[in-house]
Amino acid sequence: MRNRRAALTAIAGAASLALTLSACGQSGEGGSEEKPGSTKGATIGISMPTKSSERWIADGKNVVKDLQAKGYKTKLVYGEDEPDQQVSQIENMITQGVKALIIAAIDNKSLNNVLQQAKDANIPVISYDRLILGTKDVDYYASFDNEKVGELQGSYIVEKLGLKDGSKKGPFNLELFAGSNDDNNTRYFFGGAMKVLQPYIDKKQLVIKSGQKELTQVTTLRWDGATAQRRMDDILTGKYTSGRVDAVLSPYDGISIGIISALKSDGYGTASKPLPVITGQDAEVASVKSIKSGQQTQTVFKDIRKLAQVATNMVDSALNKKKVEVNDEKTYDNGTKVVPAYLLQPVSVDKSNWQKELVDSGFYKAGDLN
Ligand code: BGC
Repeated sequence: MRNRRAALTAIAGAASLALTLSACGQSGEGGSEEKPGSTKGATIGISMPTKSSERWIADGKNVVKDLQAKGYKTKLVYGEDEPDQQVSQIENMITQGVKALIIAAIDNKSLNNVLQQAKDANIPVISYDRLILGTKDVDYYASFDNEKVGELQGSYIVEKLGLKDGSKKGPFNLELFAGSNDDNNTRYFFGGAMKVLQPYIDKKQLVIKSGQKELTQVTTLRWDGATAQRRMDDILTGKYTSGRVDAVLSPYDGISIGIISALKSDGYGTASKPLPVITGQDAEVASVKSIKSGQQTQTVFKDIRKLAQVATNMVDSALNKKKVEVNDEKTYDNGTKVVPAYLLQPVSVDKSNWQKELVDSGFYKAGDLN
């Protein structure tokens, strides 16, 4: 009896030690080669939304590079804009024994069950760029000031049209586009832009001939440029048999490119019918070239090299039980909790400053943009 009790105590002790080790992210399970007492060599899972946009390809590369420089192994997957595929990829990574997860969600509400599994396995989760909603099982959020992105787009339109300094009174015709309705960023971008634009709409200095003003009327599923192009085509045919479009609020470069195609098919882009002011986001190569050649007017540059640094520092600190650096603990309520966030600053880029912001900063080589 005494021997049996001693044996049970020993087993319980070993089990609790194993639990402690894995709670610290230091367990050797899952085929990674980390040594006890060190998180080096642990594998970190990275789940990105799609390869159809340049930025996410670069995000994946940057995060891998930064994690490897910190001594981690990495597993990078892309969900190709299919929420179910992203969920099963994350499930697989948890089964394979990743020690932390960095996730840019496709559908911000589809991850609750899989994140419960992550929590059960003691895996810290970093919500990358896009906030994951409706679950407490997300630990930190690394992103940009998303409302500011929208403000930069809205302000650019009122400045370029001459409304801000009062040099022009309008009325000008504006059309609105927003991002995917399942991406939490969409309402921040749109909200930020409308904060600037709404007073001019109220004073009728900006007129939305399509009548489509509500977020629910102007979203673009999965940020798809072709979808935006079709919507712009319909607006032009239905509402602009007379008059011209003076400005388009576009939330993302891929959408801007679609809108520009629709406008060009309608005869815009000539001296007698110049293209409207068109905003964007991400400073993707095609759009920077378009800005240089006077088609797209503006984009919002977000230095995703810094975002990768922020996210990988969060992982490293969380796994090593160090204080995770955040700079915003109030803005990003995911419906279940306010997720502590580190937010970076976006920059408006147009013809006047692309060289300084994008080339002199080393983000692109000048040759990339020719
Ligand atoms: C990102 C943007 C990007 C968009 C489309 C958003 O969540 O914040 O940078 O343009 O997704 O990929």
